[in-house]
Amino acid sequence: MDKIYKTLLFDGKISLAILETTEIVNQAIKYHKLTPLTAAALGRTMTASLFMASNLKNEGDKLSVTISGDGKGGQIIVSVDSKLRVRGYIDNPTANLPLNELGKLDVRGCVGKGRMTIVRNMGLKEPYSGSCEIVSGEIAEDFAYYYTISEQEPTAMALGVLVDGEGKCIGAGGIVMQALPGCDDETAIEAQKIIMKYGDISTHIKNRGANGIKNEDFKGLYFTERDAKYECICSQDYIDSMIISLGKEEIYDILNEQGEILVECQYCDKKYRYLEKDVKVLLGENDG
Ligand SMILES: [Zn+2]
Repeated sequence: MDKIYKTLLFDGKISLAILETTEIVNQAIKYHKLTPLTAAALGRTMTASLFMASNLKNEGDKLSVTISGDGKGGQIIVSVDSKLRVRGYIDNPTANLPLNELGKLDVRGCVGKGRMTIVRNMGLKEPYSGSCEIVSGEIAEDFAYYYTISEQEPTAMALGVLVDGEGKCIGAGGIVMQALPGCDDETAIEAQKIIMKYGDISTHIKNRGANGIKNEDFKGLYFTERDAKYECICSQDYIDSMIISLGKEEIYDILNEQGEILVECQYCDKKYRYLEKDVKVLLGENDG
């Protein structure tokens, strides 16, 4: 099971989170047939979104992250709820690019330039929405920038996804530090130095797991622990209501044109098929 561990450092001036998301990334690879490049782009976004969702306060709260860049991969959309159930997709899952000048996956080229938008839905209140420019395209820097600029929470983050020759994820996760109120500059700089040691976070996850990093590198600290998983919340009821909202005319247009209505969930590839008899039931029409 994937995990998120959290603790406080430097007398409570810095919060630390360590995330392991290998299974989640493998589930995304399975659903969307991702290349190593798009697995990295989507996997990093899902990891950062999970961190963000781990700070949601109430059950039922959820958030969505949209990264709209002009890169090869197209738009990335991720949503997570307060129970840390995450799902996501990328517009062009088969996107591929040559390795960058450092011999790494060119996630920046996959994402491109554009904007990142975060929407938090919290109960009955209006959704809270924030957005910022994509400053890097490597995703960790972008989330750190978003937190620092839009939420005034200075943040340092490392994210990584390691994929083997067969296209399977063998290590994915992240490490995040945030300055809490009362944090002084020297402490923030010390925290930044720690994060910089995890430039290759996916290899750390592969070799030791988030649990190993926690136990070996932050020995003696008390951590909270939560499970996270890839889970789509689409359902027959939800798709039914989506179809109904199209209106009778549109529904019959599609039906007459295609002989059926086929809805494929973008997050989990589940297929919902409606034939004429199903539509009649849906619209409450009686055969007489
Ligand atoms: Zn689904």
